[in-house]
Amino acid sequence: MPDTITPPSLYDRVRRIIPPVEWPVFAADIGAILALKRARNAVILAHNYQTPEIYHCVADITGDSLALAREAMRTDASTIVLAGVHFMAEPAKLLNPEKTVLIPDQAAGCSLAASITAADVRLLRERYPGVPVVSYVNTSAEVKAESDICCTSGNAKRVVESLGAASVIMLPDEYLARNVAAETGVEIIAWAGHCEVHERFTAAEIRAFRAQHPGVAVLAHPECPPEVVAEADFAGSTAAMADYVGQHRPARVVLVTECSMSDNLALVHPATEFVRPCNLCPHMKRITLANIRRSLETMTHEVAIDRDIAARARRAVERMLAV
Ligand code: SF4
Repeated sequence: MPDTITPPSLYDRVRRIIPPVEWPVFAADIGAILALKRARNAVILAHNYQTPEIYHCVADITGDSLALAREAMRTDASTIVLAGVHFMAEPAKLLNPEKTVLIPDQAAGCSLAASITAADVRLLRERYPGVPVVSYVNTSAEVKAESDICCTSGNAKRVVESLGAASVIMLPDEYLARNVAAETGVEIIAWAGHCEVHERFTAAEIRAFRAQHPGVAVLAHPECPPEVVAEADFAGSTAAMADYVGQHRPARVVLVTECSMSDNLALVHPATEFVRPCNLCPHMKRITLANIRRSLETMTHEVAIDRDIAARARRAVERMLAV
């Protein structure tokens, strides 16, 4: 049964995903985290790929990378805990240099962010002089510092077109770049980075979902290969997928993205059946209730960015937020 340390209403939020027998395992950490947040004047920002006990029970703000970057700027809290991967914690620090930004596990990285370095961007600029560089937020602060502007999967096309250039370099996700290229007249020069979660989906898999689950609405993330996006009914960021489900209320849906996204949305849309292929992000899953608790207890691991790199990276992020 639900633990008395935490408000019983919290268990109600997740009871359709977390069995009663498992709840006591989570409840002690949840109770401690709620108390620590008050004591530390802290907020927890959680990405849509975090597990339901984090997303629904301890997070103050949830969303995609863009929403987390925007909300990080609005909070009055003195400490921000980023329940997500490292490239998401850096913008929170860039936009709040005076605040303490913590990441519960420093090893929470990203295959995309790891695919490119600042030196690579400088080489691209030499090879394509004068061509603006658009960096996906899934990059390190060093790479953002070498870029003209950032983008997310939610605003990539708008950002590319806002530059008024005939060509842009878009990095590091090749598939996002190719998916944007299919929708714009701007020539896109892509880097060959991939997300290890989304690159695994195939067009044949999507056709199999349709055959096995008649009438299913297929929503794909634009980090998937273009042939997968072509098989989908809708392609968009995790926030756009959530909006789609809220607005269209499909009877059946498959979210072609990381597994926890379906768990989190299923809890708020009980009338929709979620078909759940599970491609798990090992980096996102490094964040747990236990290490969020430890992070707040010990005020670790603090995100720190070199002052010069931070100033240049902040410009690229702020320029995106202004689009
Ligand atoms: S889901 Fe893909 S892009 Fe997101 S953190 Fe994991 S590896 Fe990186």
